[in-house]
Amino acid sequence: SEPIHIVGGGLAGSEAAWQAAQSGAQVVLHEMRPVRGTDAHQTDSLAELVCSNSFRSDDKDQNAVGLLHEEMRQCGSLIMRAADEHKLPAGGALAVDRHAFSAAVTQAIESHPNITIDRNEVAGLPPEEWRNVIIASGPLTSPALAEAILAKTGEDALAFFDAIAPIVHFDSINMDIVWAQSRYDKAGPGGTGADYLNCPMDKDQYFAFVEALKVAPLHEFKDWEKVPYFDGCLPIEVMAERGVETLRHGPMKPVGLTNPRNPTVKCYAIVQLRQDNALGTLWNMVGFQTKMRYGIQADIFRMIPGLENAQFARLGGLHRNTFLNSPKVLSPDLKLKADPRIRFAGQVTGVEGYVESAAVGLIAGRLAAAEARGEVMATPPVTTALGALIGHITGGHIEAEGYSGARSFQPMNVNFGLFPEVKVIKPEGVKWKGNDKVVAKRRAITARALEDIKSWA
Ligand code: FAD
Repeated sequence: SEPIHIVGGGLAGSEAAWQAAQSGAQVVLHEMRPVRGTDAHQTDSLAELVCSNSFRSDDKDQNAVGLLHEEMRQCGSLIMRAADEHKLPAGGALAVDRHAFSAAVTQAIESHPNITIDRNEVAGLPPEEWRNVIIASGPLTSPALAEAILAKTGEDALAFFDAIAPIVHFDSINMDIVWAQSRYDKAGPGGTGADYLNCPMDKDQYFAFVEALKVAPLHEFKDWEKVPYFDGCLPIEVMAERGVETLRHGPMKPVGLTNPRNPTVKCYAIVQLRQDNALGTLWNMVGFQTKMRYGIQADIFRMIPGLENAQFARLGGLHRNTFLNSPKVLSPDLKLKADPRIRFAGQVTGVEGYVESAAVGLIAGRLAAAEARGEVMATPPVTTALGALIGHITGGHIEAEGYSGARSFQPMNVNFGLFPEVKVIKPEGVKWKGNDKVVAKRRAITARALEDIKSWA
């Protein structure tokens, strides 16, 4: 039968090839290294880990990525098998010996009777005679292929970097200063009119803040990491540099908001936070993407009234990353609407991380293999981590009201905010304290997922 052509032998492409081949399909895996390199890869191994050697938490009960590990194991994942075989001691995390890990993946793919490896760049859209294709070319997709995809999908459908705003733990925000209100009390889709948290600033506080931004040391970037700025998504320190008033006309504008503790005095500037996960435990600082060094970021953001004790779940950043506006251009089965011969998988679909990239490869490989057999396979249930991920990338992410960033779709790690709600009932006679309810909720979500993945696996 027709072979499946997979472009890219990274985390996603290797897993996709394995899954498709294991279900009986013929696969040709096209990997450009070592003929052509990327700016981050250093070897010619498949599934090279370009930076850290950690697959993050392996706790399948209380952690979303730990749950994803377990679901992938149940689906016979090659990436998970190689990781488990070459794991290193790292507490609750799954860390691996990077060379042994990639060597094991390479060996398994090379020796699979159904897989052929072609070490060449696919330097444009896949040729017409390839009828069943998966593009898994990653965050550093070669320019020739990226340009061809861009021409097919249109201007705003492919991004070349992502701008990350800092995320704050809710319980570290001082609610004696901060108040909840949406600009002009507007209730967006599913909103209440009080969906943002607002931090007020007077003129002196604002000027001191802008001065601090202007002198903050920046993260040192390698040449290839230097990303072009485009308006609407500028780092805040670049905006501060453009003029002292620029930020108050941008992400810090004070209009449409009234401080209930001081309703007669207009704030000079306001920093807004938006809910970042369904649990309401994480809030992101709207429009606060930055290239400032990590240490100094925390110090400067704690100058903001209400954030003086802020704890950060993630600091801001700006990264090279090629990724599609997937909710717009992909169908729920990961196919490109404009050219349904082609599925996408991995980081280029707008997931973030080694495990998540491999997970989307796993799904794409299985769907493509079903198609080669003349069958249609359902995607994983929405209650599973695999289903939650695919929901994030194809499910028409709704842009939150008043968002000043340039895009509504941002790459994401798997997290509990992507799962449908689950009701937890307190057992009789038990007193919940501290984190107990959150723990119970997570346990309910993970138990449901591990049950629901069985039939799909
Ligand atoms: P990749 O693993 O990059 O695989 C894509 C493959 O496609 C590559 O082998 C490439 O050579 C090949 N390719 C590209 N274009 C073509 C073409 N035209 N023809 C043929 N082959 C092609 N995630 C983490 O979880 N932890 C981290 O520490 C981490 N650090 C990162 C650091 C950097 C610098 C970057 C860029 C990303 C990082 N990520 C990290 C994010 C992400 O998890 C990894 O990039 C991951 O490798 C993505 O998997 P992938 O399969 O989508 O892409």
